This record gives sequence, structure tokens and C-alpha cells, in this order.
Amino acid sequence: MDQVAGIEMMIVMQESATQEDVARILELLESAGAHGRVSTSDVVTVIAVIGERDVVAGLPLEAYPGVDKVLPILRPYKLVSREFRRSDTVITVGDTSIGGGHIALIAGPCSVESREQLMEAAAAVKRAGGTMLRGGAFKPRTSPYSFQGLGIEGLRLLAEAREQFGLPVVTELMDPRQLDSVAEYADIIQIGARNMQNFHLLSAVGQVDRPILLKRGLAATIEELLMAAEYIVKEGNEKVILCERGIRTFETATRNTLDISAIPVIKQRSHLPVIVDPSHAAGKAELIEPLSLAAIVAGADGVMIEVHPTPETALSDGAQSLDTRQFARVADRIKGAVAWLGKTMG
Ligand code: PEP
Ligand code: MN
Repeated sequence: MDQVAGIEMMIVMQESATQEDVARILELLESAGAHGRVSTSDVVTVIAVIGERDVVAGLPLEAYPGVDKVLPILRPYKLVSREFRRSDTVITVGDTSIGGGHIALIAGPCSVESREQLMEAAAAVKRAGGTMLRGGAFKPRTSPYSFQGLGIEGLRLLAEAREQFGLPVVTELMDPRQLDSVAEYADIIQIGARNMQNFHLLSAVGQVDRPILLKRGLAATIEELLMAAEYIVKEGNEKVILCERGIRTFETATRNTLDISAIPVIKQRSHLPVIVDPSHAAGKAELIEPLSLAAIVAGADGVMIEVHPTPETALSDGAQSLDTRQFARVADRIKGAVAWLGKTMG
């Protein structure tokens, strides 16, 4: 028998089902050596069944009180699927939210370079109405000779900026050995494009109590992105934000190609929030405004934008970074689009 059984079906409870009805089903599953994962955010409770298909199929589930129907989950991803949870997942950090009509405007430098640089960027993000601050302390650089980030010192500076400006902090984790440090300082842990299929890293962040911002890999399909998210949620961490950040195509006019259609496709298939990073998609500052607006109008739950007080001196990604004045203008345009859609900032 397989050691790790998959989720093949879900039990949809009746609207009138009681907690006792749900508890009875969970007990039945446990007694058969299976396990149930309960989703209660919808009007109806849904239980995903984790166990051996043959064993579970033999259980008289539909005869139990409170059970409406037993359905197969057809997608290879289960817990992140719309089939498992119909309503949008809303992730709240401090007093700001992402998902379900709440739009996040995450901005800040590619890399944390110094206290002065970070504080200046953070002040501009706050002033313009940004809802969260981003900044890399551990940087995944193509060249080993490029600036690799300030490490722990960068995390401390981010925490200082959070104190000063009241913005939750998003920062990248590259190595499970730094998980405790990053989780100590970050409000949201970013898993970068290059690590989207680093399965040990995904399982590790599935065990912490911090939302995860999972970026789509450079050459990953939407299904692969959702499977990566499933690794995290399977471990118990249901707070995953997906991020479309451009993919590799034959096009060379932009650093990557922003896959706008990924937004509605993911929204159809998953209940998780989806944001767009136009900075890494475009690689060019002048494209950030149109791509951000396109993302919001296409249904994204937020955008993440690189901002630097002096992009021309940036130690990473200067060409795609907005200066603080440009960011204020783009933020205003985004707020206008959000209001037009009848959604809420933060
Ligand atoms: C980043 O956000 O700075 C970054 C390195 O992004 P990505 O993993 O999408 O390249
Ligand atoms: Mn960057």
C-alpha cells in the first residue's frame, strides 16, 4: 500500500448538518485509517478525504446524517481547488487583507541595501497608500558575483521599517535553514520563482504560521504552480498567495512575458488569492503602470511593485524599479481602478 495516500474525494455536507454530524464522519474516516480535512468557509461544510481509495470507497458515507453527497475531486491539486472551497480565501495580516475583494498594494525595494534606502522607500510606500512593504534580505541572483543581500541585517531593518511605518513586511526565504529567522521577522514569507518547485522548502513553510507568497516559476505551468501550493497547504498552512511574475517566452522586448490570462484561469481553478508582480514580468519601469492596471482589471487581488529612492544606484533590479514619485502616480492609478471595480484597498 502507498504510504502517502492522495485525496480523491470530498464529502459535501447538507446546509443543516451539525458539528456532531461532521465529527461522526471524521471519526468514521479515522476508524478506517483515513483522515478528513474540513473546509468551513463556505455555506456548506466540505470534508476532503485523505486515505486509500479502496478503503474509503467501501464506507457507507452517504448513509450518514448530514451528508449531502460524495464527489470525486478531479483535479490533481485538491485542497487549493475551487472544488474543495468555493468561496475566495481571504488572508489578513495585521489590519490589511488580500482576497475576496481586498486588494493588496505591496511595494518596496528589490533588495534591502541600507537603513536609509529602506526607510526612504518605506516612507514613500506608506505615503502613496501601499498596504505592505517588500524587500529582499536573501537574494536569488543569477550571478554569484552579484549582491547577495544583507541577510539577517536586512531582516532587522525590515522589522524596523515595519515598526516605523506600520506596514506588514514581505521577504524571501531561500533556504530552510533560515526559516526560523525569516519567520521571526517577516509577516509574509516569499518563495521566489526559482524555488517554486523546491519541494522541501515548500513543505517546510507549510509548517509555519505565516502566510506564504508563492511566485510562479520561470517556466512553470499554472497546474505546476497550483501543485506547488498544494505542497504547502497539505502541511497545514492554508494561507498561500499565488503570484504571477511573468514567464519565459520567445519574446525579448520584456524581461519576461506577463501571463495576464493566468489570473482568471487560476481564479477559476483555485480559491487562493492571486497577485501580479509587474516589475519582474516587464523588467522596465515604464511598463509598470499599464501592467498593474491590466492585472487589477483582470481580477488580481493585488500587485507587488519594486520601488527605490534612486533606481539608478540600485544594487539589484534598478531598471525595473520605480522612483518614489513615479510610484505615487502608479499607486493613484491603481487606487482609481480598484474604486472603479467596487473593491477595497487592503
Ligand atoms: C524578487 O521578488 O525580488 C524576486 C527575486 O522575484 P522572482 O523570484 O519572481 O524572480
Ligand atoms: Mn527584484
